[in-house]
Amino acid sequence: MDFKKLIAHCKEYGFIFQSSEIYDGLAATYDYGPNGVELKNNIKKYWWMSMVQMHENIVGLDAAIFMHPKTWKASGHVDAFNDPMLDNKDSKKRYRADQLIEGYCEKIEAKNNKDVAKARKRFGDAFDEAQFRATNARVLDRQAKIDDILKRMNEHMRNGDMAGLGDMITELEIACPESGSRNWTEVRQFNLMFSTQLGNIAGEESKLYLRPETAQGIFVNFLNVQKSTRQKIPFGIAQIGKAFRNEIVARQFIFRMREFEQMEMQFFIQPGTQQKWYEYWKETRLNWHKALGTDSAKLRYHDHDNLAHYADAAVDIEFQFPFGFRELEGIHSRTDFDLSEHQKLSGKKLQYFDPEKQESYVPYVLETSIGCDRMFLAMISNALQEETVPDADGKDSTRIVMKLPPSLAPVKVAVLPLLKNKPELTSKARAIFKKLNLDFNCQYEEKDAIGRRYRRQDAIGTPYCITIDFDTLENDTVTIRDRDTLQQERIHINEIEQVVRERVDMKNLFSVVEEVA
Ligand code: ATP
Repeated sequence: MDFKKLIAHCKEYGFIFQSSEIYDGLAATYDYGPNGVELKNNIKKYWWMSMVQMHENIVGLDAAIFMHPKTWKASGHVDAFNDPMLDNKDSKKRYRADQLIEGYCEKIEAKNNKDVAKARKRFGDAFDEAQFRATNARVLDRQAKIDDILKRMNEHMRNGDMAGLGDMITELEIACPESGSRNWTEVRQFNLMFSTQLGNIAGEESKLYLRPETAQGIFVNFLNVQKSTRQKIPFGIAQIGKAFRNEIVARQFIFRMREFEQMEMQFFIQPGTQQKWYEYWKETRLNWHKALGTDSAKLRYHDHDNLAHYADAAVDIEFQFPFGFRELEGIHSRTDFDLSEHQKLSGKKLQYFDPEKQESYVPYVLETSIGCDRMFLAMISNALQEETVPDADGKDSTRIVMKLPPSLAPVKVAVLPLLKNKPELTSKARAIFKKLNLDFNCQYEEKDAIGRRYRRQDAIGTPYCITIDFDTLENDTVTIRDRDTLQQERIHINEIEQVVRERVDMKNLFSVVEEVA
């Protein structure tokens, strides 16, 4: 579905609102509405169950957002958590230098894709895209240009060479998308951490940061958790929580926000085993995504060209968002960087005594890190569809339906009396609703024709609608309508809870995780 329509749908149906909208909003911050918070909680539950509940050797943590300022010195964030930024002097807009250069390459890539599409039209079924890309001179030239630009850009990024990035922007004649002008400032490093002040003390000493990642709360608690749970290596600590980044350019709805939520897991391992665990978590995490029914073609790995200061290997799981493939989750081999640095700066030992080897060492760490909000956007953009279906009279009509996995859907079941002004129907429906409410998030709706109510439930992804009609009064049966197939079955009132439970249980996802693994 078109991205603008998706954003409008999220607002209209209570999934996501612009923060402080009555004051014209605050850039890159969003609020989750009544349906949004349910979906988000279900995503977190699916992650938490698969990480903590289903792994004997992974335990949970909920650390504070504020941490001792030295944390961020040790982690490298004070010195190195920067993005290269520049301003356009005419439009006064601020940009990230690397994103401008990548945008330039995407335009060249779009030309190649156009040529590929044209050739496909010309050759029909016989068309071999890989061969075309490997042999067509124009496409090859453009690809070589892209490769060269990205290679040079990555080198400048690695070396922190801001002037080099500035020169590339001049050389490629990149203009401001807003004003069309090439009147740029020089490229400067911009630290992404938000800072605030502790109590009433002024000065550097009292400077506090809003955490830019949840991981550090895990590292500084490594020994507390290990000792209190008597875990043996390898073991992991998982955490879900808010993180804050002063992103230079925050666009694309909830994809890039300044306040967002992360679901991170740090897996502590023996040094030297990182390659094995890197492969393990890479595969395990991709399977977690696939188990949601996401089309494999919409998921891919992308190896990092620029390794962060702490990593010896890193890969992204990318998802095909409405605006292209982008990072959804990162899997990073973080070595012993964080624990060693905290050990140095705090003067406290952060070592593990290995009972089998009879020696102490600083463990290596493998991290899986996924943005909860990006996962939300991925789920919505995957699920939201416009389709043609027969209406009550058998005529074609279009409906907007959110085909979420039932276990993630905000409302599991809607209870609908066929008619509003028949007290015998509404009182029966209310009684059923009251009972089901103890087990599932349900909705009771009696306003408007039944067809319109079905459509409203489709639009928020409710997998099942229970309708109470005149037969119900005769024999205590109801219809249960399936969101995706539109089929209606008649079942006895006493069966509703069991039938719904079987179909919306999160367990269903885990049986798929096992199958794809
Ligand atoms: P990007 O390259 O897109 O800025 P990143 O590589 O800086 O992301 P990480 O530091 O690896 O991201 O963070 C882990 C995860 O946190 C990301 O995979 C993403 O899902 C999420 N995330 C990071 N920054 C944001 C943001 N500004 N808004 C929403 N989610 C974010």
